[in-house]
Formats: sequence, structure tokens, C-alpha cells
Amino acid sequence: MASSSTSLPPSASPFSPPSSILIVGSGVFGLSTALALARRHVFARCSITVVDRSDPSQPGAFPSPDAASVDTSRIVRADYADPAYAALADEAQAEWRKQDTPASLGAQGRYNETGLLLVGDATPPEPPAAAAPAGEGSKPKLTGLDYVRMSWANVSSLAAKNPELAARVQELPDPDAIRAALGTGGSSGSWGYINKNSGWADATASMAWLLDQVQQTRRVDFVAGTVVSLEHDETTVTGAKLSDGRVLSADLVIVAAGAWTGGLVDLGGQAVATGQVLGYIDITEAEQEKLANMPVVLNLSTGLFIIPPTDRVLKIARHAYGYINPVTLPHPPLPLSPTHPPPANPTVSLPRTSLIDSNLSIPAEGAADLRRALREMIPWPALCSRPFRRTRLCWYSDTATGDFLIDYHPGWRGLFVATGDSGHAFKFLPVIGDKIADCIAGACPPEFRAKWAWKAASASASAAGSGSGSDSLAWSTVVTEDGSRGGTPGLVLADELAKSPKEVPAHD
Ligand SMILES: Cc1cc2nc3c(=O)[nH]c(=O)nc-3n(C[C@H](O)[C@H](O)[C@H](O)COP(=O)(O)OP(=O)(O)OC[C@H]3O[C@@H](n4cnc5c(N)ncnc54)[C@H](O)[C@@H]3O)c2cc1C
Repeated sequence: MASSSTSLPPSASPFSPPSSILIVGSGVFGLSTALALARRHVFARCSITVVDRSDPSQPGAFPSPDAASVDTSRIVRADYADPAYAALADEAQAEWRKQDTPASLGAQGRYNETGLLLVGDATPPEPPAAAAPAGEGSKPKLTGLDYVRMSWANVSSLAAKNPELAARVQELPDPDAIRAALGTGGSSGSWGYINKNSGWADATASMAWLLDQVQQTRRVDFVAGTVVSLEHDETTVTGAKLSDGRVLSADLVIVAAGAWTGGLVDLGGQAVATGQVLGYIDITEAEQEKLANMPVVLNLSTGLFIIPPTDRVLKIARHAYGYINPVTLPHPPLPLSPTHPPPANPTVSLPRTSLIDSNLSIPAEGAADLRRALREMIPWPALCSRPFRRTRLCWYSDTATGDFLIDYHPGWRGLFVATGDSGHAFKFLPVIGDKIADCIAGACPPEFRAKWAWKAASASASAAGSGSGSDSLAWSTVVTEDGSRGGTPGLVLADELAKSPKEVPAHD
């Protein structure tokens, strides 16, 4: 784990820690924050409570199986187009590589450095005319291939500082070179590179490790319960109300509820929940052996990727614009400020998972794309036609730029948000809690200050409808245009499901 700093840099203004902190959500953002706070002397007299829909006292019930942080695998890469995220991921990878003792983060199969094949297509598919516009403040639009080229430049410069690592990064100038590096007989994309310094983590096992680290501090109380609203007085958030009527009070509330955050706090159109498709296929022992040395393969033009199999299960997924799921909320989320009237019919995109809907399936459009990935990347006839053992919809909290949203709320005292994961936060498990704690203490890393800041809300972009009486559509303003997404922007889950013959139910 990254070293936990105990004092603020000299430039930071004096920080007075709260006497109690409530963290809503125990995904990678919430739980790593709890660990960082618990380890810092400056918070030694502060009580720390984590509340989650999951129940940490029940074996197997934590982490909540439908949280984004829970899955068989997550890619761990410093392969970013943005140098700040590349550097932060490099810092995280140093922790993932620690395997000296069974308790080390990367030990016991939690981290596997299989390499990453990152590719793009020379001619990316045209986005449809109906695509929603990118939100205010979005970066210039990149294609998947642009992203791969910029990532190559960043990774090459990181590797240049370490000749041993540099020898493990190789450009792949055409589909034949990509095919040779993939080693399955398949290929994807027209240009790319392989970075043998990247790999994947067992997400469920890593979250269990993180929970254990938090519990070892004996500083954090866990509460199982679903927060339905934030408690507040005229100016200040004072706690959270649970669905069973309990109220948890705290001086500082940190909302780290992932894709569910917009249901509790009006994010002013800065982030929206998008559902992503995954499929899992059972494979034979012989197939597993044949795939034993394959790298992770990710095509940033289509968003399609495959992670090497484990326990005879192969996972295929798509990092895409995703589906939105508009829901009219029974409780209005916390408005943008105390003077902002709550909207009449607050509607936001929220996760729909098989924990809530046991008959949930993935849309046919998504299932067909996963099949396309298999045909391209592992073109074995017996595998390509094999039914999914299970499928899943997993939910991002997407921002327009792909930057996280980690900041104090500008309209309310006592409220901090740590969300907007944009589908790429898991790899930061060993370091993100410390960065969030820095931000809480007023010392956000300078390179992330603007990226992670709460962005001024435009009047038309209130996630829960504007105070002017119209219920505006937050999702129409948020399309992640960082160049890493495939698929079609603006698909509505219910519409896509209505078109779908069901392949197999989704199970979280
Ligand atoms: C399909 C998919 C593939 C991905 N692949 C990668 C990858 O390869 N590499 C990578 O780095 N990242 C990847 N990510 C992204 C990564 O998983 C997320 O960025 C990260 O897990 C987000 O963590 P979080 O804590 O914000 O959200 P979550 O993990 O979703 O945690 C939010 C928590 O809040 C709780 N909660 C929500 N609402 C309430 C409430 N009202 N009351 C109480 N508790 C509540 C939930 O139960 C949940 O436990 C992927 C994500 C998905 C979905």
C-alpha cells in the first residue's frame, strides 16, 4: 500500500479535521478513503463510519455483488493518453507488483502481469448523428487510435526511465504483428502496442484484501443499510437517512456511491450512470491452457476487450458509451444548493442490476458486440458459438472528460463527493484513497486539481431537473469523449431490452 502521509504540504492552508466522517459506499473509492483516513494521524480523533447496501458482517455479502468494484477481473494499466493518470497508474502498479508475502496486495493471484495489447482501428466507426453533444469543459474529441498513440507516448516515456521496463514495451504496426503478439490466432485493430508491464487484478479478491486492511486498523465502523437521502439543515449536510428510518449523523459526509451517486446528490449534469455489458463463457481445461499466455487485449475504437481466463471462465466486455437508465426518484436528491428548489419529478439515470431485477438480461446489441470480440480476438469456432454462462450489466459513473469528481460540494457545507469513476478507477485501488484524503485535507495533487474539481453547473444541466420547473435530461449532456469509448452514445437500456431476444439472464 502507498505510504500514508500524515502531514500536509507546507503550502496547504491549516486543516482542521472533522470529529466524525460518514462514507456512503464501500466500493474502491469509499473503502480506500476509509483506509487512508484511518491511517492518518491527523484524523486520529475522528470517528469513521462506512455505510453500504452490502453487509460486511455477512460472509460473501461484501463487497456488494453489483458494485462496479466487484468482478472476476479488472485491467491494471498505466496505458493512458493523459500523462497525469498514466503517472498515477504507474504509482499504483508499483503497489500491485508487491507479492513478497501472502498479505501483499499483488500476492495470491490478486495481480497478474500478463501484458496488455492496446489497439485501435485506423478508420473508427462514425458516431451516429443522434449522438448527444459532449458536456461543457470536455476535451477535444479523440479517436480510439489517437488514444492508443498518446498512451504509447506516455508509456514509452515512463519506460525510458527504466530500461528493464522499456524492453517489455513493443510497437505493433499492423494486424499481423498484433496477431503474433495476441497468440490466439485472432487479431484486432490496425495499429497498437503491447505493454508487458500491464496486467489484470482479481477485483473481488482485491476488495476483500482492502476490507481486511481497513478492519485491521480497528478504526472504522461498518453499517449495512441503504441511504435514501442526505440529512441537512439550512446550510450544512449533517448525515444520512437509511431506508429503515435510521439516521447516521456526521460532521463530514463523503458520498462515494459510484453510479448510484446521482440518486442522492444532484450532480448538476456532471456525471451519469451508464451500464456496460459483460459476458462470461465456460471453457475447458485444454482451452484455458491454450490461453494461459495471452495478454489482456483492448481495442479502444470498439471498446471491446478480453481478459485472460481464470478458473476456466473467460470474460468478454465492452468499455463503451453504455446504456442510460432514466428513473424517476421517490426522494429528490440533495439540490445544488440550499436555495435551489427541489425538482417536481426528479429523473436521473441509475443502475439497474440483477440484484434488483433477477430477470435482467443484456441487450441483443451488446451481446452481438461481445460475440464480435470473440470472433476477432479468439476465433475458435467451438468457443465463438458457445452460450454465455452468465452476463452482467455493470455501471460506470461517467463524466464528459473521463476525469473523476473528487471535491467538496460547493453549495453545501459538510459534504464531499468521490465519484465519476468513468469506468477506469479500479486500478488505482492502492493509491486513490490517499489522493482522496489529500483532497479532503485541502491538498489535492496539483495535476488533478482542475480535473477532479466540481464543475459549475449550467442551469440546464441539473441532473434532477432544473429548479425552473422542467425536468432536464442530465444524460443528454454527458457523453464521455476521452477517446477510449466504443459503441453508440445515448442508448436507453429499456429501449434496447425491448428489442432484444434474451440470450441469458444477467447475474451480478
Ligand atoms: C464492466 C466494467 C469494467 C471495468 N473495467 C475496469 C478495468 O479494467 N480497470 C479499471 O481500472 N477499472 C475498471 N472499471 C471501473 C472500476 O470498476 C470502477 O471505476 C470502480 O470500481 C468504481 O468504484 P466506486 O467505488 O466509485 O463504485 P462502486 O464500486 O460501484 O461502489 C459504490 C458502492 O456504493 C454503494 N451504494 C450505492 N448507493 C448506496 C446507497 N444509497 N446507500 C448505501 N450504499 C450505496 C454500492 O452498494 C457500492 O458498494 C470497470 C467497471 C465496469 C463496470
